[in-house]
Amino acid sequence: EKLTGQQIREKFSQYFMKNNHEKVASSSLIPHNDKTLLFCNAGMNQFKDYFTGKSVASNKRAVSIQKCVRAGGKHNDLENVGHTARHHTFFEMLGNFSFGDYFKEDAIKFAWEFLTVELKIPKEKLYVTVHYTDDEARKLWNKVAGLPDDRIFNKGDKDNFWEMGEFGPCGPCSEIFFDHGEEYTDHDLVRIDPKDLLEDEKRYVEIWNLVFMQYEKTPEGRLTLPKPSIDTGAGLERVAAALQGCYNNYNTDIFFPIMKKIEEISGKKYEPFGKDEKTKANFRVVADHIRSATMLITDGAIPSNEGRGYVLRRIIRRAVKYLNELGVKEISFYKLVPAVFEALGQEYPQNASGSELAVKLLELEERKFRETLENGLKFLNDAITKEVTNKVFSGKAAFKLYDTYGFPVDLTEMYLADQNLTLDNEGFEKAMNEQKEMSRKSWKGALDNSDKVFHAIKEKTGATDFVGYDRLDVQAKLL
Ligand code: ATP
Ligand code: MG
Ligand code: MG
Ligand code: MG
Repeated sequence: EKLTGQQIREKFSQYFMKNNHEKVASSSLIPHNDKTLLFCNAGMNQFKDYFTGKSVASNKRAVSIQKCVRAGGKHNDLENVGHTARHHTFFEMLGNFSFGDYFKEDAIKFAWEFLTVELKIPKEKLYVTVHYTDDEARKLWNKVAGLPDDRIFNKGDKDNFWEMGEFGPCGPCSEIFFDHGEEYTDHDLVRIDPKDLLEDEKRYVEIWNLVFMQYEKTPEGRLTLPKPSIDTGAGLERVAAALQGCYNNYNTDIFFPIMKKIEEISGKKYEPFGKDEKTKANFRVVADHIRSATMLITDGAIPSNEGRGYVLRRIIRRAVKYLNELGVKEISFYKLVPAVFEALGQEYPQNASGSELAVKLLELEERKFRETLENGLKFLNDAITKEVTNKVFSGKAAFKLYDTYGFPVDLTEMYLADQNLTLDNEGFEKAMNEQKEMSRKSWKGALDNSDKVFHAIKEKTGATDFVGYDRLDVQAKLL
């Protein structure tokens, strides 16, 4: 059945409400009360305290459609965007939750019924994974879904132990995969063992994760939760791609208005199954980044040189690179804002009501960046002819690009990658530290610069784990 994104949202909410779940609105992308978290990255974030027992839910079952951003922090998909069919920086997570109420058996029953009965996905197209220690889950998949053992795959902690961040509720999980069909086989993989079938993440795409919440990670160690709970998350865009038979998330109706608008701005065509991989990737990255930038701004983020605002700034500046490659030399990114709300406005009217602010801030940010972009690229191209040794680009030059031309270092690395070059990260950090020393010596400007330098260093060294603004020990370590 070819359901639209909006129809899937409705079906999901209705199904779980019918099964006594309370519909809870999405929380903001900016977790104002949680300093361990960069952006909201999963439906369970807002329910964290219900899992740990710190507070008590009035209803033990909940269903939500949660705005998520995974750019930076523990779950960082920024580098995946444009390269995989299934990753976005902004996406919507459909989730059902049990706070000490039902556990594994019902979680599996609900998910299986929703997919195979409500959405009518043929059973032969579904596969699941369980944590290798979780025999109970395996037996339940046999019993509840009638799935034979050869359709259930064991995985380790990396894939099947879910954690929200450095700290927080966590537990083993069971993931459901959709088989898009043989034509999507990843031919780069040399597959020898049938037990590794799901390693082909091009053909088999994870659509839903059922997390069996049993523990809490704290600075003191791992605790067992007072009551085992359920947290699930299914990516709306991935479910839509499966149901609409269009394989790539970016080819679903959810992205249609944005792609159309990028076509208008660039004069290029988006051909979902066309041969021009580069152009397709450019469209997809721009479409992704306008969604996250717009949704972040309308949830209260502002481009800046620090923390969340700096991630937002990086997203915008990366988008400008891709727009440029589509031949767009005018300030244009902001023109895509209305198209974002064609697909998201109905579900998130509050964000939509802030669209004017998003337009203004994006226009301003792009203007500021474009003022130095041309000279920055000149500097970069010139430096590439002089300051490359063994395909490694000078860290000092990259620092100048950062400091003088406003190139976030990941952006510089992207330009370098286009020419098969890498960056001397150590040299970059050294240049950064030297600047820090200098500004430390002159009291004037020290305040301004320490922040900037701190965040640039964090950007390099803290690219994997966001540990919060108030962990002084960590800040000290980074500095
Ligand atoms: P993957 O292994 O594909 O990166 P994940 O295991 O990191 O996904 P979870 O943390 O389990 O994802 O999130 C729950 C669900 O949210 C996933 O099953 C998927 O449907 C969806 N999802 C996760 N990350 C993204 C993303 N970057 N873009 C779109 N959907 C996503
Ligand atoms: Mg992931
Ligand atoms: Mg996964
Ligand atoms: Mg998962």
